[in-house]
Amino acid sequence: MATALENANLLSRAILTTQKLRISVSKTFNHMKDGIKVSQDEHGAPKSFASQLQEDLFLINESFIELEKLTMAVRRQREAETIGNTGALSMDPVTDKTPLYPKALETYKWATRLREHSAHSQAFLNNSSIKRSSGSGGSPAKRRKTAPTNLNISTQAVDNLVMNVNRQFHDVKITKIQLNPTVLQVYVSRTLQAIIVLRGLLIERVLIRAHHENTLNDDGTLDLWTASKYEVFQKITEHATAASLRYYLPTMQDLSFRSFMHWLNSFSKLFSTPCRLCGKYIKDNLPPTWRCFRTVEPYHECCRP
Ligand SMILES: [Zn+2]
Repeated sequence: MATALENANLLSRAILTTQKLRISVSKTFNHMKDGIKVSQDEHGAPKSFASQLQEDLFLINESFIELEKLTMAVRRQREAETIGNTGALSMDPVTDKTPLYPKALETYKWATRLREHSAHSQAFLNNSSIKRSSGSGGSPAKRRKTAPTNLNISTQAVDNLVMNVNRQFHDVKITKIQLNPTVLQVYVSRTLQAIIVLRGLLIERVLIRAHHENTLNDDGTLDLWTASKYEVFQKITEHATAASLRYYLPTMQDLSFRSFMHWLNSFSKLFSTPCRLCGKYIKDNLPPTWRCFRTVEPYHECCRP
């Protein structure tokens, strides 16, 4: 309210100054048009006219400068610019107590910034070539098209993959022991066996056991849950689960499976390969159970880089 009163005072002074300026300008033009009464002295007349004109111009200048100062003062004390219909909020007479309009402006700026950030994030995520799941990003039409193909891998595709991997890795022997869901039994040399549950060609679950441990329950059904009784294979099961996530590529399922098998194949000489860091075969009663995901070099769990 205080600023409004000040503004009103300034405006009324500005109106008075404008009137003064108009009067001065009119008077000056009248003097120039009609001339002024000069004395009879022939030498004094031109001097008197010039001094009168100078006086008139001085008054105009003074009024003009004063008006300019007032205008600047009024502009400084004005509140924030109003935007559209929200400007009506700033007409609240108790603005000092409930600053609705400034808060509305702040919120508007915040929302604009949020929209900009989300647009940038969306652009960045869309550019990412490898996605964790088939549903992330892309248009709804694209999602509808790709989602079913991940699950509807033909048995022929699984058989081809098994055959190719058997051919590629000499120490690995894969057999398909169950259909729907597909379960593979993998022997790596004479060191260990892995039970792999597939969804499409993607690895859903891995269980590592000793080469001689049972695959079947007492009632003859497939045992997909009992962990190995040996600590070394329990550890490798943990690392294998991490590896299956590390190599998870829904858009390139074949490559995903091959990468995992390349990693698993590195366990063929588990008990006769020293740790890459400490050079020891056994540490804390365990061989090097961890493998680098990139180079598949062996490390103890505590030695890994
Ligand atoms: Zn080590």
